[in-house]
Amino acid sequence: MANLQSFLRDRCLTVLNLPDKGRSLFTSRDFRPGEVILRQEPYVSVPNNNSSESRCDGCFKTDGLKKCSGCQVVWYCGSSCQKSEWKLHRHECKALCRLEKEKRMLVTPTIRLMVKLCLKRNLQNEKVIPITTTDNYSLVEALVSHMSELDEKQLMLYAQMANLVNLILQFPGIDLKEIAENFSKFSCNAHSICDSELRPEGIGLFPLVSIINHSCSPNAVLVFEEKMAVVRAMEYISKDSEVTISYIETAGSTLTRQKSLKEQYLFHCQCARCSNIGKPHDIEESAILEGYRCANEKCNGFLLRDPDDKGFVCQNCMLLRSKEEVKKLAGDVKTVSAKALASPSAENKQDAIALYKTFEKLQEKLYHSFSITLMRTREKLLKMLMEVESWREALDYCKLIVPVYQRVYPATHPLIGLQFYTQGKLEWLLGQTEEAVSSLIKAYDILRISHGTSTPFMKELSAKLDEARAEASYKLLALKDGN
Ligand SMILES: [Zn+2]
Ligand SMILES: [Zn+2]
Ligand SMILES: [Zn+2]
Ligand SMILES: [Zn+2]
Repeated sequence: MANLQSFLRDRCLTVLNLPDKGRSLFTSRDFRPGEVILRQEPYVSVPNNNSSESRCDGCFKTDGLKKCSGCQVVWYCGSSCQKSEWKLHRHECKALCRLEKEKRMLVTPTIRLMVKLCLKRNLQNEKVIPITTTDNYSLVEALVSHMSELDEKQLMLYAQMANLVNLILQFPGIDLKEIAENFSKFSCNAHSICDSELRPEGIGLFPLVSIINHSCSPNAVLVFEEKMAVVRAMEYISKDSEVTISYIETAGSTLTRQKSLKEQYLFHCQCARCSNIGKPHDIEESAILEGYRCANEKCNGFLLRDPDDKGFVCQNCMLLRSKEEVKKLAGDVKTVSAKALASPSAENKQDAIALYKTFEKLQEKLYHSFSITLMRTREKLLKMLMEVESWREALDYCKLIVPVYQRVYPATHPLIGLQFYTQGKLEWLLGQTEEAVSSLIKAYDILRISHGTSTPFMKELSAKLDEARAEASYKLLALKDGN
């Protein structure tokens, strides 16, 4: 641990033990927005491979993959990734080969992550893989497991999973209890590894990053460069402050956020945002994000349950929306939602889009215009419209989503930047060059904070912006010449 403190000291960071939060990461100098606070390669990682999509075990790329000829489970993009993974996979491959075909189907990414964890620990003990300050099983040992707070059902599940790991590895003297405890550690410490557009690609264990605590209004953001975790300051962080990231989707009412933190991470959040629970502003925010809209279509007020329980009263114009009306509409929404979910969208995309539009129109009548539920439906519609290349309609939805994002996320949240990037690309495709330039600038200004400026993704964004700028000035020149 002394090594770790000196590693962190070199990066102007320190770990403090707080009575109610445990280990916490603190700064020992100021950090500017966009500055890297911490980087870490995963101790172990596994791509989220399934029947429809596979990724290289080494770099998570999807192109030109070949199956490992031994186990037929793991994929590689080429010999360089296969080689770099071989020290560990050699043993995993042998273990997977021993397993009967049907049992191999049970080897989920989480099970594989545990198999790799056990193997890596052994290989480091045997000095086949070098131990470093940050690539070190002792960091995994230091992670919280919350074992004592788990219910019987969860404990049983972890015990069964540990048995499967035992069946795969067949190590003599394997410690099943420790493996079960490590599964519990995974559930509150493993990170989902995402690409630059925040789409999940796999899971990994980054025990140093796990020291960073959660806040619903975090001052830092975690992104990934290939498999490496990179934590950057999202805002100005002064010396001696705690570094925080968000473990969950922060768009949601305080109750919703606290519920998901309690369920998955087993703690009660006491961040600045959560401490407002029950205050007038917090009640208003919940009613806007998760409540109904005013019966008067022109009114943007938020509704609260009326004291006589007749329905919901608009806090702006005092109009009552009866319980019966809300119930009827909610029923209709439910019916269409069931249909939309059951529709085989891959087969007939236009039908699926039409269905989702009906769904959206109904939700529009029921929910507040900044509702998270409505926003999710529009995100889905945007995705489907992009797939069928309906650029103009996609742009309309993009523009509806941006203001909601700006309301529910902090100003420098990467999701806002990514949405502006999509908007800029759509405007560019539709020949709206000046608008494209303006959107791409907004995207760049936000994403350079979360993503830095040197990754291939950011270089591509910057090149698109240059291209759009050049065309905008060319158009302007042509216009002048015309006059
Ligand atoms: Zn690869
Ligand atoms: Zn293999
Ligand atoms: Zn919170
Ligand atoms: Zn109203």
